Amino acid sequence: MMEKLQKIFADRAALIDYVRALSPELADAPVSQTVGGRQAGAARLAQLDAQSYGSSRNYLDGAVSYLSPYIRHGIVTLNETRNLAIQQGAPKQVEKFVQELAWRDFWQRIYHQSPAKIWRDIEPYKTGYSADHYATELPEDIRQARTPSAAMNFFIKQLIDTGYLHNHARMYLAAYIVHWRHIAWQAGAQFFLTHLLDGDPASNNLSFQWVASTFSNKPYFFNLENLQKFAGSVAPCAAHDNVDFDDSYDALAARLFPHSEALNG
Ligand SMILES: Cc1cc2nc3c(=O)[nH]c(=O)nc-3n(C[C@H](O)[C@H](O)[C@H](O)COP(=O)(O)OP(=O)(O)OC[C@H]3O[C@@H](n4cnc5c(N)ncnc54)[C@H](O)[C@@H]3O)c2cc1C
Repeated sequence: MMEKLQKIFADRAALIDYVRALSPELADAPVSQTVGGRQAGAARLAQLDAQSYGSSRNYLDGAVSYLSPYIRHGIVTLNETRNLAIQQGAPKQVEKFVQELAWRDFWQRIYHQSPAKIWRDIEPYKTGYSADHYATELPEDIRQARTPSAAMNFFIKQLIDTGYLHNHARMYLAAYIVHWRHIAWQAGAQFFLTHLLDGDPASNNLSFQWVASTFSNKPYFFNLENLQKFAGSVAPCAAHDNVDFDDSYDALAARLFPHSEALNG
């Protein structure tokens, strides 16, 4: 018979020790600073600034909510979050935030309609490459944050150490994995799900498919100028440390997707 899991602990350190004892393979794994539970979730919700969110959300140091682990695990509901947001300003001032909550709801509905399909390509890639062009294993340099890009290494470390990444960082890293490294989105999605505290098959896999272009009209990609603008205050974005991205969108499209009708047609 399985031993009953302990649920009450003297403090967080005791909880961490207990989990480490249950999972010796995690002995050296970093512990996220994000604290679980309703009290922590409610405190996070109380800090919501849905108005500032609209103008700053794309910046890595913007007024994002950090609510995703609590929403993902049902500790804070989408409904109470939406209700609080719409009290914070006129509809136009808070609509961006409410739209993002709607994305979560949309992805969940697609997932619940066909849970078995969540690891399959919804449509073909529009990158000019077929699905079998993409490698199925994530290379070690990505797993270990030793890629040629300092910004990507920063995001990978943050993902592993904290279990959280800003939405824009997720888009950059997902695009790097799929479009620069030619790795199937499924391998990137699996890596994210292993580390994200908000890891969710619907939001994660369908967002990956949006980046990859198997659930959108064209692939998402970025250049150094965009990376520096939105991530430069947080991540190391110097050109000499991120040479793969240092070009115009047209030049990058020609290099990354030379056969794509969606981009070059
Ligand atoms: C490649 C990739 C993988 C992702 N994987 C996950 C995942 O596993 N789990 C997850 O919850 N979200 C995922 N997202 C969506 C989004 O990045 C996170 O929900 C958001 O960054 C979490 O931070 P936050 O709570 O500060 O969000 P905020 O920007 O403050 O948004 C508020 C809430 O709205 C929801 N939300 C915001 N943006 C999105 C979005 N694009 N799609 C769906 N819901 C959204 C989340 O519940 C979030 O907590 C992923 C996005 C990408 C591009």
